[in-house]
Amino acid sequence: MGKELILSEPIFDDDETIARALEEANTPSLLMAMVHLSGDASIMRGSVRPTAVTLGDDQGGLTPEQQATIRRRALEVLKEYRSGGSRKPPPPSPVEILEMMSFMVGGMVPEEYVPLVIEEIGIGEEDARALKWDKPVPPEVLGRFKVLIIGAGMSGILAAIRLEQAGIPYVIVEKNSAVGGTWFENSYPGCRVDVPNHFYSYSFYDKEWPKHFSTRDDLWAYFDEVAERYGIKAHVRFNTEVVAASFDDDTGRWTARIHGPGGAEEVLEVAAIVSAVGQLNRPKLPDIPGLGGFEGIAFHSAAWEHRHDLGGKRVAVVGTGASAFQFVPEIAKVCAELFVFQRSAPWMFPTDDYHDPVGDGQNWCLEHFPYYSNWYRFWLFWTLSDGMLPALTVDPTWKHLDRSANAVNDDLRLMLTEYVKQQIGADRPDLAAKVIPDYPLGGKRMLRDNGTWLRALKRPNVHLVTDRIREVTAGGVKTESGTGYPVDVIIFGTGFRADHFLWPMKITGRRGADLNQQWGDDPRAYLGITIPGFPNLFCCYGPNTNLVHGGSIIFHSECQVRYILGCLKLLLENGFAAMEPRQDVHDAFNARIDDANARRTWGMPGFSSWYKNSKGRVTQNWPFRLVDYWTVTRAPNPADFILREARRGTRSAPSQGPRRDL
Ligand code: NAP
Repeated sequence: MGKELILSEPIFDDDETIARALEEANTPSLLMAMVHLSGDASIMRGSVRPTAVTLGDDQGGLTPEQQATIRRRALEVLKEYRSGGSRKPPPPSPVEILEMMSFMVGGMVPEEYVPLVIEEIGIGEEDARALKWDKPVPPEVLGRFKVLIIGAGMSGILAAIRLEQAGIPYVIVEKNSAVGGTWFENSYPGCRVDVPNHFYSYSFYDKEWPKHFSTRDDLWAYFDEVAERYGIKAHVRFNTEVVAASFDDDTGRWTARIHGPGGAEEVLEVAAIVSAVGQLNRPKLPDIPGLGGFEGIAFHSAAWEHRHDLGGKRVAVVGTGASAFQFVPEIAKVCAELFVFQRSAPWMFPTDDYHDPVGDGQNWCLEHFPYYSNWYRFWLFWTLSDGMLPALTVDPTWKHLDRSANAVNDDLRLMLTEYVKQQIGADRPDLAAKVIPDYPLGGKRMLRDNGTWLRALKRPNVHLVTDRIREVTAGGVKTESGTGYPVDVIIFGTGFRADHFLWPMKITGRRGADLNQQWGDDPRAYLGITIPGFPNLFCCYGPNTNLVHGGSIIFHSECQVRYILGCLKLLLENGFAAMEPRQDVHDAFNARIDDANARRTWGMPGFSSWYKNSKGRVTQNWPFRLVDYWTVTRAPNPADFILREARRGTRSAPSQGPRRDL
């Protein structure tokens, strides 16, 4: 991985400097880097071995003595590498990689993860996820096949990079004045990622991250840098929105109506559209009576109004989701009074290094110790991968389904409840009663915590209000008990219109089908990417592709973009104009998704979340393993699609490929 972060060879630092740096290494990753660099598998035959990965342990259960042994041995391996002319051994075979992965995590990693991991951590072929053509496509055919990407956030930039590499022309339409999407828009105090950055980054572009969980500014700078480095920005129409797009049955092409700066309107004709608008794109204000009559300042967390100094102000925050969880501790330091209106409490899990910088030693290892960064990425991938899924799966025979999904889920609930109680201490039973969630762990997004949330709620100027909001008055917030909370500012941390995927655009497919009408608040797509009746419309981060149990949305986007490029290849290499998924394939897939989601914690009844629509169906989440999504999106199966030539009526019989079921 890290095509831009080339290993410095040879290593010039003295042994003492290296030894100091190794003190900060993640020892399971160091062990694997040693095996990889030396080619000496006997390192895995000794008594020093990581045990199973457990929550909160980032050293694989290795004792301090074992860690010291590994660090000493790593220095020897590095010295041998240096004295041998810094020559790398041949890459390990898939069988060896499987053994290394399993050894590292202290358990058996299923074989099906091997090709995924080789790609994800970049120890195989260069940038394996880039499109490879099998047949020559004439330049004039490629030249005519223009793609419109909607949105220049994380997925849009990625789609553009892959199209650029494939030589397919594209234009990006971006409503903001800059790239970065959610990391551009969300600038609230305390905004940061909650997936470690050495995994929450493109598999092909690493950088020296200042923090394990970087702040919004660093993330935005990363996406801006990638867009710059790959020459994407020149293709972006900034401050421009797609307002409508319609598919022409005769030509098999889309026309998109766009509004540019100053309201200038234009029409683009393209062969395909990639929607990269994200799921959390349009802020949602709650429907609270009296909101329009508030005489103070009110704004949404995703459109933070930095011009207002909150110092000395009385502030109300509505919501205690992921966004409020990050900004409340920050603004609590300056507000005179802060009223936090909580409808349901979030589950939080301990992450000590949540705000910590990446140490110089760790950075040295990432940059200079050959293969360390690759194996560290695997470590993060695995610890954030599919291991949690069984704990989030409903056991129908479990006696306490009102509070948990199964016995392990119940144990975790107990553990995290204790974690909360310990932080609060004995003197605030009132607070403990309010902040321990009453729904199963994993029902909503779990939030990373290093103690800042409860420290903030315990401040004398902060009040957690669980009484429901009845109305907003001219001077503040009134709850159902009739209590009034006079405030100067109301901040809504109330989330996004996640169930309206391409809203407010008007997307018209074959025979005039209106996508937003068809979907309502019940969006469905095949693999979250393609939709029957809407040929050549491809979604990134579409319906049922959000991750709750682990992973990184960048990983999922890389799966989607590879699949989309595979679809375009299918069209271009075979002379087709348009493709759409078969209705039966789409329906069967969605039935499997619904069945699986109903058996996960987030599909359990009795509580609401942005994952569920008004009927309680989970429209957002991927209920299977990461490796399952990777497997089904490696390449499109032609048999799943209706493929059309340019003129109406000339339809090809779908070629029969093997079916891949989840
Ligand atoms: P959210 O998770 O949807 O949270 C919205 C909050 O507002 C919830 O506490 C909700 O209560 C409350 N709420 C909504 N309407 C309300 C009303 N009328 N009265 C009182 N409370 C109301 O939104 P978010 O915090 O912006 O986060 C959305 C998603 O963005 C996250 O799940 C995550 O995927 C992503 N995110 C990620 C990060 C990160 O990586 N660090 C940071 C921020 C956001 P209920 O729970 O009772 O509905």
